[in-house]
Amino acid sequence: MIQTKYTGRKRIAMMASRNPKSEAVYEQLFKGLKEAGFILTSKQPDIVISIGGDGMLLSAFHKYEHLLNTVRFVGVHTGHLGFYTDYRDYDVEELIENLKMDTGAKISYPVLRVILQLKNGEKLVYRALNEATLKRFSKTMVADVMINQVHFEQFRGDGLSISTPTGSTAYNKSLGGAVLHPTIEAMQLAEIASLNNRVYRTLGSSVVVPKKDKIAILPKHNDRYSLSVDNKTYVFDNIEAVGFQIDQAKIHFLATPKHTSFWERVKDAFIGDVES
Ligand code: NAD
Repeated sequence: MIQTKYTGRKRIAMMASRNPKSEAVYEQLFKGLKEAGFILTSKQPDIVISIGGDGMLLSAFHKYEHLLNTVRFVGVHTGHLGFYTDYRDYDVEELIENLKMDTGAKISYPVLRVILQLKNGEKLVYRALNEATLKRFSKTMVADVMINQVHFEQFRGDGLSISTPTGSTAYNKSLGGAVLHPTIEAMQLAEIASLNNRVYRTLGSSVVVPKKDKIAILPKHNDRYSLSVDNKTYVFDNIEAVGFQIDQAKIHFLATPKHTSFWERVKDAFIGDVES
């Protein structure tokens, strides 16, 4: 058996979206990091660099979610500044310098654990960085919503979304949910077009649930449902229940001088410089 000698050199994996700008950044980083003595490998990396947008970072998260406890992520954006991306395409030299000086510092944020229970007894577990969304295909979704075994409400509408704090600025925000600072260890339940009248009643607003609590959605009808987990959608015909809780593991990002404040990101993305 060949023993690989541990040299203390950091192992870096890179993932880039398929467009000329991202591919050019990939080439530049590959060359620069190799020259700087890093080991470039997709196997057991210490650091994962995603090149593209937030969608690419979501893909990188899912590719390496089995290594969450040991890996740190860093994003390079090749379009506008994203929520999960600290560097822009023209910051490549700065990223290489910061990686050379890296001491292992990290910033950690909660992720969501999604437990899907099927009627045949099968159990599937997913992790979401942004959110998980349950919808019924053909008709209004009717589902019991439980919070910690308490029957909270019977939901009727298009579907329900449960988001992480970092996901609160994504789909959740479009649904009228609140923006949560990512250091708040909580998940948020948001309604998608609920039916509210004298017969059907739901809370109507989104609900923020703390780390120790559990949410469960129990669809009423035997029908086809879609479960979207970040940028992937799965289809099931036999859902018994879907459970949600904050996962034990967190996502770790490389703490670099480039890591801008969350509120700056929110302002930059949604408000901009409005003349007063
Ligand atoms: P996509 O290409 O349609 O991108 C969706 C947009 O969401 C992009 O502009 C991306 O930068 C942004 N985004 C992603 N994560 C974000 C975050 N945490 N905070 C703020 N903005 C964020 O789809 P994709 O790249 O495959 O990303 C999937 C995500 O798209 C899902 O996780 C969901 O949050 C989001 N989405 C939003 C809506 C909506 O707002 N109506 C609907 C479906 C999905």
